[in-house]
Amino acid sequence: MRILVAEDDPISRRVLTSMLGKWGFEVIETSDGLGAHAILSRDDTPRLAILDWMMPGIDGLEVTRRLRRHDRQDYVYVILLTARDRQEDIVAGLEAGADDYVVKPFDAGELKVRLRAAQRIVTLQTELLAARDSLHYQATRDALTGLWNRRAILELLGDELQRAARDGHPVAVIMGDLDYFKGINDSHGHAAGDEVLRQAAVRMSGVLRPYDRLGRYGGEEFLVVLPGCRDADALQLGERIRDAVAAEPVGWEGLSLPFTVSLGIAATERAGDLDAEALVRRADAALYRAKRTGRNRVACAAASV
Ligand code: GH3
Ligand code: MG
Ligand code: MG
Ligand code: MG
Repeated sequence: MRILVAEDDPISRRVLTSMLGKWGFEVIETSDGLGAHAILSRDDTPRLAILDWMMPGIDGLEVTRRLRRHDRQDYVYVILLTARDRQEDIVAGLEAGADDYVVKPFDAGELKVRLRAAQRIVTLQTELLAARDSLHYQATRDALTGLWNRRAILELLGDELQRAARDGHPVAVIMGDLDYFKGINDSHGHAAGDEVLRQAAVRMSGVLRPYDRLGRYGGEEFLVVLPGCRDADALQLGERIRDAVAAEPVGWEGLSLPFTVSLGIAATERAGDLDAEALVRRADAALYRAKRTGRNRVACAAASV
């Protein structure tokens, strides 16, 4: 684990650095408070810091205060190093945001066990952040395709409509539904159907622009959110999606499974249109028309075009 040592006294710093090195830490050294502040402001800051209280420039207490003022994700565990042992100084140090303190001259054994506790906390916090990220991923993604799930894509659509209302740009949505998909499941099994769904997601993603959003809306239904698109633009993109999906059959355990998608398009009709539900409903109605008129085609909502 990397650790910052900020100590202005060269002898003290050398002793500390060599000791930490022996204990397996990768030490980053500095001799003053401003240097410490600069290192702790970096994105890749060490997660452990031993700061001397008295240093030129800004002192360890102020370095700690500045560090805590930033609302950063990765917690930095701070141990203040101080020659003072008056009770009120210790309180001031902890109030500034330090996690622990060691009184100089320090005892190596004591510092070692305190550092072990510090490492435990840093590790726990890292694990907690990873667990939170993973939970967030699971809550917003569809497990089969990795696309946004229904709730997330609808939320993204809501956000996009808000932004569009502020900026005055249009938003279009495309609702896609695989054709005769039940037949694939019925003939070849659920696993074959799953592979077709995964491939459909890959092919659709492949033709979208970086700022378009694609979600799995339901079983074999997909919703695309297209910021800045009028229905004519969305129609073009819809055709590209349709082409990409139908381009070639999916290979599955020696079988070749052709599949197609029908798509319905709707775009916001006036600036400030915030009704996500109505927009999706219109795209859905257009999709129904694409199905009725033969499938493997794109249709626009009546009021669009
Ligand atoms: P249409 O052209 O009218 O859309 O016909 P369809 O067969 O595609 O539509 P239908 O609604 O009859 O069937 C959809 C099928 O999708 C039924 C359901 O079992 C299947 N399905 C839904 N979710 C999944 C899934 O996660 N995996 C698999 N393999 N199948 C799924
Ligand atoms: Mg000092
Ligand atoms: Mg369906
Ligand atoms: Mg279908």
